Amino acid sequence: MKIKEIGGEFELINRVTKSSGSNPDIICGIGDDCAVIRSGENEYQLITTDMMVENDHFSLKWFTPAQIGKKLMESNVSDIIAMGGKPEYAFLSMSLKRDTEVEFLDGFYSGLYESAGRHGVLLLGGDTTHGTEYVFNLTLLGRVAPSLCRLRSMAQPGDLIAVTGTLGGSTAGLKLLLKDKEGYLPDHLEPRSRTREDGEAIAHHAHAMIDVSDGLGSEVTHICNRSNTGAEIIMEDIPLSATTIASAQILNADPYEFALYGGEDFELVFTLPEKSLGELRSVFSDFTLVGKITPKEKGIHIIKNGEKTPVLKGYDHFS
Ligand code: ADP
Ligand code: MG
Repeated sequence: MKIKEIGGEFELINRVTKSSGSNPDIICGIGDDCAVIRSGENEYQLITTDMMVENDHFSLKWFTPAQIGKKLMESNVSDIIAMGGKPEYAFLSMSLKRDTEVEFLDGFYSGLYESAGRHGVLLLGGDTTHGTEYVFNLTLLGRVAPSLCRLRSMAQPGDLIAVTGTLGGSTAGLKLLLKDKEGYLPDHLEPRSRTREDGEAIAHHAHAMIDVSDGLGSEVTHICNRSNTGAEIIMEDIPLSATTIASAQILNADPYEFALYGGEDFELVFTLPEKSLGELRSVFSDFTLVGKITPKEKGIHIIKNGEKTPVLKGYDHFS
């Protein structure tokens, strides 16, 4: 049976991880942005891992080696930030081609270290081997105070749904590259995670939090599935940048589709009770309200031009 016949990436993960086991120190195993493990009296250890594969996550036609290193670090940092945490220590495993030039790796590592420096991350190890395509996998450790740890499962009916920054820029850039069109590319080639300070400020007021790796539709669905809720997203309220709107015009496409089903924006999606809105705004204001969490029976919908439409699947490597 092929992976797409059972539904795709997430159905596969569910199938192969059924007997992964647990113990009382595991606050959250598989199913969130990071694994969360109790570590001493008043601290949780966070662990995440993310991979970039040549011709799937990046093409050497478009990415400089430094941009690959940066994007790998930013995508992992983003998962720690989405728990309310502080990123700390990284391990890098890579599969290189036999004829790889050392200058390629100098460039890759310069990008990786630049991003690591920005987020206070230290590289502590890894593994090196060879294969037919480049594969880079980063494992990142971090920590969070239990009171600030924000899980996908913490949303409550009545919560507002908010997103930081703007969405859809990474996909807009990718589509321009795929169609060989000129336009704005930094959101795709050099995306940045939110900072630890942003994540912590939000964590003080939010219930659930997740980062945008597969598109807003997919991330809200993850929150709802883990929290046992429904949700309503108002499509016209999704924040788009002027460059994303301009790219969509060039591509004759809908920029909201990029935001909902594209991904790799590494912004944060969070839910919070209405009463906390003012307090959060006084310390962090780069966010937009895009909908609300509803009881599970209401389902998960996008309101487009006043009409309910279903949420489609986000990016899936196997569908
Ligand atoms: P994110 O987009 O936040 O990085 P993913 O969608 O990649 O998260 O993964 C969702 C969850 O599934 C995470 O808890 C991750 O650790 C887990 N996961 C992904 N692939 C595997 C795998 N091959 N084996 C076990 N767990 C996995
Ligand atoms: Mg994530």
